[in-house]
Amino acid sequence: MIENRPIYGPEYEELRRNVRRFFATELLPNIDRWEEDGIIPKSLWLKAGQMGLLCPTVGPEYGGAGGDFLHLSIIDEELGYTGQASFTIQTHTDIVAAYVEALGTEEQKKRWLPRMVRGELIGAVAMTEPQAGSDLKAITTSARRDGDHFIINGSKTFITNGINADLIIVVCKTAPELGRNGVSLIVVEAPVEGFTRGKRLKKMGMKASDTAELFFDGVRVPVENLLGAENAGFKQVMHEIPKERLSIATIAMAAAQKAFDVTVAYVKERKVFGKPLIEFQNTQFKLAELKTQLTVGWAHLDHCIAKHLKGELTSDEAAIAKLFNTELQCRMVDECLQLHGGWGYMAETPISRMYTDARVRRIAGGSSEIMKVLIARTL
Ligand SMILES: Cc1cc2nc3c(=O)[nH]c(=O)nc-3n(C[C@H](O)[C@H](O)[C@H](O)COP(=O)(O)OP(=O)(O)OC[C@H]3O[C@@H](n4cnc5c(N)ncnc54)[C@H](O)[C@@H]3O)c2cc1C
Repeated sequence: MIENRPIYGPEYEELRRNVRRFFATELLPNIDRWEEDGIIPKSLWLKAGQMGLLCPTVGPEYGGAGGDFLHLSIIDEELGYTGQASFTIQTHTDIVAAYVEALGTEEQKKRWLPRMVRGELIGAVAMTEPQAGSDLKAITTSARRDGDHFIINGSKTFITNGINADLIIVVCKTAPELGRNGVSLIVVEAPVEGFTRGKRLKKMGMKASDTAELFFDGVRVPVENLLGAENAGFKQVMHEIPKERLSIATIAMAAAQKAFDVTVAYVKERKVFGKPLIEFQNTQFKLAELKTQLTVGWAHLDHCIAKHLKGELTSDEAAIAKLFNTELQCRMVDECLQLHGGWGYMAETPISRMYTDARVRRIAGGSSEIMKVLIARTL
């Protein structure tokens, strides 16, 4: 169901084949080792850059291919369809580069985007703090103006690409007394004095993705690194977030499809009580239900992508896609693991990794509960 959808023309399908080949040859053969290391080496980022897989929408004037959102979606889909999405190019491309493209000055775009396209600069976005996740306005990391610099103090946690990142968009309070109207986005370029990275956090899934704590102790950042307008950070994040959630929904949908496809193949091979598992009505009914949910999920996803292409995707529609697809992914991996029996619980079986990788999707990028809050506001 992933291929040949009307939303994509034939030229995109060629990109899909190339991306799939790249992940099959460069990512999947090494993923076990990188899961043990807890990080993907920078060399893969450079190779992905050479292949044009990073920041495909960046224009040629900044070293990019000047593609559209469909190019980006294809890459997200193929990443999800690998069955493990620990190579967190979505954070780099769909969030960090997208913020620079949308909010950056000409000078900032020239300085950062070409190296982001090539994979020489890896991006991270640091919003979450130990005491503030869902409630972004409760952050306490501060950026105080001192002449032509900001001085940043505070700490962040759960930051994707936290160890590998060279360019970090830090969400800070520049006017704490103004609450959500006192938030700004400031780019920290590592290494810089006063900036340290905590230990790589151990996770239940997505183990090859480096997730870390970040500490800012009097970090001096030139005012030229302010991204967008001062004190407009909250509004800017809210403006960008539907697209980010659409990307998460896209990866979740493709990952759900992958779990389904490997399970269909498995139940045709596996014999129980003398016949293939697929011949049992329970198996057929389970898979029929799951196929139905996948079909509906793809249709809604394509509807949302089409709306986004027209600039019409609303925050609550993106929330619906994120909620539905990430919940579907988690149901899918659970039901599919069950159909694998004990083999599904073994780390060597792909569905086992898909199960543990999936869980974060209902939490990060806005939890399912926050999606419901957003949707409920439209009632
Ligand atoms: C692997 C991973 C990678 C991540 N990467 C990044 C990153 O790159 N950058 C970054 O900034 N952050 C990142 N995060 C953080 C992520 O975005 C937060 O974990 C998420 O927003 C939830 O915040 P929290 O963990 O503080 O949970 P909390 O906000 O403490 O929420 C706890 C529970 O309360 C629920 N809840 C919260 N508010 C409400 C409400 N109003 N109504 C009902 N229920 C509510 C939540 O849904 C959740 O179930 C990452 C997290 C993980 C696990």
